[in-house]
Amino acid sequence: MWTLKFLRFDQVPSDFREPFIISGYRSYRSSASSCLASALQRTNETVNFWTHFIPALIFARLTWFVAVTDHGLALDPFTWPVIVFLLGACFYMTASSVAHMFNSMSQCARYIFFFIDYCGVSLYSLGTCIAYYAYAFPPELLDTPLYHAYLPVAMVTALCSTYLACCSRFSSWPPLRDAGRLPAFAIPYIWCNVPLVYRVIYCESTGCGSEALFFHIQQFYWVLGFAFFYATRVPEVIAPGTFDIIGHSHQFFHIGSSIASYCQYLALIAELTERAHYLDDLRRPTFVTTFGVLLTVLVGNLVIVWILSRRVIQMSRSKATNHKD
Ligand SMILES: [Zn+2]
Repeated sequence: MWTLKFLRFDQVPSDFREPFIISGYRSYRSSASSCLASALQRTNETVNFWTHFIPALIFARLTWFVAVTDHGLALDPFTWPVIVFLLGACFYMTASSVAHMFNSMSQCARYIFFFIDYCGVSLYSLGTCIAYYAYAFPPELLDTPLYHAYLPVAMVTALCSTYLACCSRFSSWPPLRDAGRLPAFAIPYIWCNVPLVYRVIYCESTGCGSEALFFHIQQFYWVLGFAFFYATRVPEVIAPGTFDIIGHSHQFFHIGSSIASYCQYLALIAELTERAHYLDDLRRPTFVTTFGVLLTVLVGNLVIVWILSRRVIQMSRSKATNHKD
């Protein structure tokens, strides 16, 4: 159980291969216990697991700190949006680390774990929008059509993001499989950041030198950085096989996304302190505009995952039947 046999890319089905990664694959019929054991072995997924599992623990601690120790979940509705953001971050990091650990159990498991992973990314981007809606809008954009449409559109893009990202896995052509996920994640991100981009360009009203704006801009840089690695597959595209275990692009993607999330957290905390008077005059966040929105999209996402998982199970059953015939 504890000593795993590692395979090369040509010893696993094409669905399990990662572009430009040659070695370090686990058996595509691994047991749950051997997947757990692989967290401490030199597989091409080991660092992918840890680079989201450790941040998940850090964000779980932050959530506890904000919700229970520091501000108190039930006491102050103004902290609810940041708690929703933190819950989204915990969800995507945990779902990602679980997916990277257990995806080699079977073809079905690989599909379904990554569906849940995409569900996590969608909830995280929605959590970010909920927090920006509550804290980050500049005064000029309040009560505009953008402000009123912001959350409903964020809900729709979050659901579309899950659906598109999951469907991209059905493509038999690997470049489309990866490229299909890029717009699925980019569109909700771009929508979410519209008020922030406005604030960066017209920063006079909210303070060009504010700490919150500084961390928001840091977050943009980290996102640009990890998007570069995700889209280009540098460095393994340059030297296939060299970075199979340590140093491939997906690991930089995980590290960059975790640091970007931490910058967002620091920016939201800075918004809460720097703009306290301004936020006091606004409508208080409600349960519906925070946890309600998140729970609604969570249910929608689970329905999408359930429908597409049934399709995967049917596909694998018909494959097994054809094999027998
Ligand atoms: Zn990942």
